[in-house]
Amino acid sequence: MSDLSVNLTAPNGRTYTQPLGLFINNEFVKSSSGQTITSIDPATEKEIASVQAANAHDVDKAVQAAYAALKNPSWKKMASSDRGILMNRLADLIEANKEIFATIDAWDNGKSYSEALNTDLVEAVGTIRYYAGWCDKIFGQTIPLPNKLAYTLRQPIGVVGQIIPWNYPLSMASWKLGPALACGNTVVLKAAEQTPLSILVLGTLIKEAGFPPGVVNFINGYGKDAGAALVQHPLVDKVAFTGSTATAANIMKMAAATLKNITLETGGKSPLLVFDDADLEQAVKWSHLGIMSNQGQICTATSRIMVHKNIYNKFIERFVQEVKNTSKVGLQWDESTYQGPQVTKQQYDRVLSYIESGRASGATVATGGHAITNIGDGKGYFVAPTVFTNVKDDMSIWREEIFGPVVVVSEFGDEEEAIQRANNTTYGLGAAVFTTDLEKAHRVASEIEAGMVWINSSQDCDPRVPFGGVKQSGIGRELGEAGLEAYSQIKAVHLNMGNRL
Ligand code: NAD
Repeated sequence: MSDLSVNLTAPNGRTYTQPLGLFINNEFVKSSSGQTITSIDPATEKEIASVQAANAHDVDKAVQAAYAALKNPSWKKMASSDRGILMNRLADLIEANKEIFATIDAWDNGKSYSEALNTDLVEAVGTIRYYAGWCDKIFGQTIPLPNKLAYTLRQPIGVVGQIIPWNYPLSMASWKLGPALACGNTVVLKAAEQTPLSILVLGTLIKEAGFPPGVVNFINGYGKDAGAALVQHPLVDKVAFTGSTATAANIMKMAAATLKNITLETGGKSPLLVFDDADLEQAVKWSHLGIMSNQGQICTATSRIMVHKNIYNKFIERFVQEVKNTSKVGLQWDESTYQGPQVTKQQYDRVLSYIESGRASGATVATGGHAITNIGDGKGYFVAPTVFTNVKDDMSIWREEIFGPVVVVSEFGDEEEAIQRANNTTYGLGAAVFTTDLEKAHRVASEIEAGMVWINSSQDCDPRVPFGGVKQSGIGRELGEAGLEAYSQIKAVHLNMGNRL
């Protein structure tokens, strides 16, 4: 073992080697300042490992590596189908190591091991495979014109700086890497300081898969140091970010100085509408999944439920019962756990303060409404799944993203009112509609101000389908064919065919 890796045994008994360095040019290196970030198990508050934290100098090294790789024929001239082979190899390697990745993300983030394995890892592998398939299918158009031919080339944007959050560490990395690499860019990706571990193991697989040095670089570091340095670096051509709306606004400002291309995916307060003709049992189950999975730490969480007045009481009764029966809170490793701890003390405090604010503003706690302190050895950031009723549209629990297992439920009178109140938000990420009326379903889907609408479900996501928000929920799209647009640019070429002056 060098001081840039450590052998770890996770609480589920799995042992693995955890790299600790910055992954630059296919090597793990120390940070120039010696600064580190310590990862904490949010269920036990115990330290897991300390990794190197980048400062502006280290970010420069990573960006220079990515810039050199962009110009290097080993990447620049690589046949696009060979890029696809590399990416498929990476997907195979992730899949072969899926239990290790699920262990790390459960340990570091607090999500249940089974959710990490069956959701995050499936998504990560599927996304890299999906974009591997695109590599040799990305090209321009020919445009016939009198006496000349015009055509377009679809080319990479260049060096891409990617900044990801902590709620889905490995799968967020795959969403960012997949389209960027398929289009031939090179990448410097910064993981969130709360969840720095899995990305470094991914670094070992990038090298093993055979990517040329510098094509993919991973750094850990704090947002204000490493993140800001990445966004402002003059050799970075594009920034792709997922996280809070406030940070996204800051990134836009910083990126303006060098006019960088940006993609932003931020927060939401996504509505879920249940009409009185809906299949009530299905609406209850999807409503539960839509807010309580992943500890409620989902940007698309359907955190504002609106139910038609005719079925409101029946819905509340069944929904509260579902939350009590299904949302078992526990350690990441217990098979029966639905909800683990919140990711950090900061997020835990934030969620609890929203619960207090809901109470103080006069909303009713239908279930939950407190911390849980008797799990494991009594430590950890556990919050009881919480349902608020008697909520008014001007309360902060109705308007602001809580990012925890807290949902507000309100009733509406008719379709017009439902749409108006659903749209009365600065956000516009997801929205769900429950009805058995086909016309109403499509009518509402078309009127809701959101980047994604689920009809009779919530949180559906697939690498083939575009993902992103409107209003203050983001700019640009990830996933699907639309995701390629964010990572390629069009060059127009005019060929004169006999037009003489
Ligand atoms: P954040 O936006 O501050 O952090 C997300 C990422 O941005 C991290 O990698 C962080 O290091 C980086 N970052 C922070 N400041 C930066 C800067 N000035 N320049 C460049 N990069 C910077 O989010 P947070 O503080 O971890 O969480 C706060 C809230 O954000 C949450 O409560 C939630 O509402 C929201 N959030 C949303 C998502 C999502 O998926 N949309 C994910 C995480 C958090």
